[in-house]
Amino acid sequence: MNLMAELRGYGDVMTMTMAQCRMQPETLKALWGAVEDALPKFHAYLCRKARVLGYEKGLPWYELCAGLGESGQRFDTEGARAYLVELLGAFAPDLGEMVDRAFREHWIDFYPRPGKSGGAFCRNLSNQKQSRVLTNFEGNLDGVVTIAHELGHAYHGHLIQDHRPLNRTYTMPVAETASNFNETLVMNAAIARARGQEKLALLEQRLQDYTQVICDIYSRFLFEREVFEERKGGFLFPERLCQIMAETQKTAYGPGLDPACLHPYMWVNKVHYYYTTLSFYNFPYAFGALLATGLYARYQKEGAPFVEKYRTFLRSTTVSTVEEAAAVAGIDVTQKAFWAESLAMVAGQIDEFLLMTEDA
Ligand SMILES: [Zn+2]
Repeated sequence: MNLMAELRGYGDVMTMTMAQCRMQPETLKALWGAVEDALPKFHAYLCRKARVLGYEKGLPWYELCAGLGESGQRFDTEGARAYLVELLGAFAPDLGEMVDRAFREHWIDFYPRPGKSGGAFCRNLSNQKQSRVLTNFEGNLDGVVTIAHELGHAYHGHLIQDHRPLNRTYTMPVAETASNFNETLVMNAAIARARGQEKLALLEQRLQDYTQVICDIYSRFLFEREVFEERKGGFLFPERLCQIMAETQKTAYGPGLDPACLHPYMWVNKVHYYYTTLSFYNFPYAFGALLATGLYARYQKEGAPFVEKYRTFLRSTTVSTVEEAAAVAGIDVTQKAFWAESLAMVAGQIDEFLLMTEDA
């Protein structure tokens, strides 16, 4: 990749990535600046979670995804449809209608079965003005949130389907905005409705997800940056890669993770490092999640008039730079202040979690 960036005249891989993303380096700098400021808040969450689970020196890696509380909500596909049409339709009626259509017209392959791929996925079929969604729905709220996420991609496709064929491709940093926005709508509503152990479970799940896209993605970004730099001087052996990974995890997770139980082999099992045409394919997850959270914060402030701005933003993503598209929604992503506003919303949820687990 270093060689390719050089031969193509970009100078370095980061410059090439920014060009592919139609994005300014200042925007990424602003994002990481705000993230660095917010890290201690995430460390406080992790340290408290460690204490609740009985660990003294921070959380061991394998407990990062341990759940707290208890969520017993069950859904069948009809229940999921009704729930999502109500919630997402209350935000934007055309979103609710599209969700209803996706269920009625069988766009979604819901259930796991032998031989089916795991995870979830959405493909826009702009020429047909439809999308197709794959999920592995198991009937819990988490599964409903996953459907909401994938239908966010479908809605993004729905809004750009009338562009000319060559203007229907959005870049990595904005690809996860509509999906994360839907997740935020569903989870925040669910958390607000829940009580006791149910509320704790949902809140903790949400913070787990945010910690993944903030702390883990930040560690991966630092790792990639260091690897591209060191690779200029020679081949990197596994021992050195493990060392860099452990160092960047310590930086990102701070005292929240037990330094004796990190995951130095994360570079092996994440496919994001191995795409031959994409580099730095990790930061878009932090970007997408925080952009969606920031847009949601604006919606909270502005109410209904914001909805059309949101649609115009999504429509612009395939024909503008990242900065221009965000400006349509009244947001300046080159400034740290926007990202800080977004992270303040997460910090509010961390405070709520700390309050709920005070006696642990
Ligand atoms: Zn997605």
